[in-house]
Amino acid sequence: MEYYPKTMFEFEQNFATEKSCGEYLYQLRWPEGFICPRCSHKEAWKTDRGQLHCRQCKYRVSVTAGTIFQDTHLPLRVWFKAIWQVVGQKNGISALGLKRVLGLKSYQTTWLMMHKLRKAMVRPGRDQLVDPVQVDETYIGGPRPGKRGRGAAGKTLVLVAVEDRDGRPGRIRLHKVKSATGASLIPAVKQSVQPKSEIRTDGWEGYNGLSSCGYTRTIIRETAEVGKNLLPLANHVTSLLKRWLIGTHQGKPSPSYLDYYLDEFVFRFNRRTSRSRGLLFYRLAQQAVNVGPLIGSEIAGGKR
Ligand SMILES: [Zn+2]
Repeated sequence: MEYYPKTMFEFEQNFATEKSCGEYLYQLRWPEGFICPRCSHKEAWKTDRGQLHCRQCKYRVSVTAGTIFQDTHLPLRVWFKAIWQVVGQKNGISALGLKRVLGLKSYQTTWLMMHKLRKAMVRPGRDQLVDPVQVDETYIGGPRPGKRGRGAAGKTLVLVAVEDRDGRPGRIRLHKVKSATGASLIPAVKQSVQPKSEIRTDGWEGYNGLSSCGYTRTIIRETAEVGKNLLPLANHVTSLLKRWLIGTHQGKPSPSYLDYYLDEFVFRFNRRTSRSRGLLFYRLAQQAVNVGPLIGSEIAGGKR
């Protein structure tokens, strides 16, 4: 299929009713036709309430069941508008801004909606970064600047990994980590970067274990002092991230929710050259029906 609206006008024309939004989600969820989530049978009746009724096991499923839209009280039209807003602005939109644009009454409802959309920003089974990759860490939040334990009170440490494309940034990954020790850093690198890749870091001992995990480590910066910019791509991403957290989200998302903000930043950064708002809309809507619903503990911020 891969239909997506090219303009605001097309968007409004195509997604004016609950029915048209539901049909779009149906196409995204079952592009090859219906497959029963319970028995994998391929034939279903459509009920009057818009549910699918499996012909074999008689299971009834709505197009939103098992997706981030599950149990929502908001019309799909509102969700579609929210997605359109979220992908339409280069730096994204805060929950407060979205509440205004959509004319919603409750900040909490809008916030939860944003939270669910952030979950959908992580593509299931996404690819790992390809080498060479610059890796560094940075502290987010807290009153004082500092690095690796110095003045780190109240801050959250984030691992930053950036593909080095001849001196220009490729794709990125960000991971909240417990500390700057190898026990925290190495697993985060393994999640982010393809095995056997070349990884460029400074001389920090926390990365010493990379070689024994099969990576080729290149030390770019011999000292762990602040100030000298020898990992320019990682530093660039770090400063954009900090600016974005301050500019769009007023600075300090609580550490328990930080993962979700990092996911949103990665989604935006990795698609920064895509000029088509419609295509981004399509991608996010597609991922929204392919990741499961946000469960209680995730809402409270306990993600990984
Ligand atoms: Zn079935």
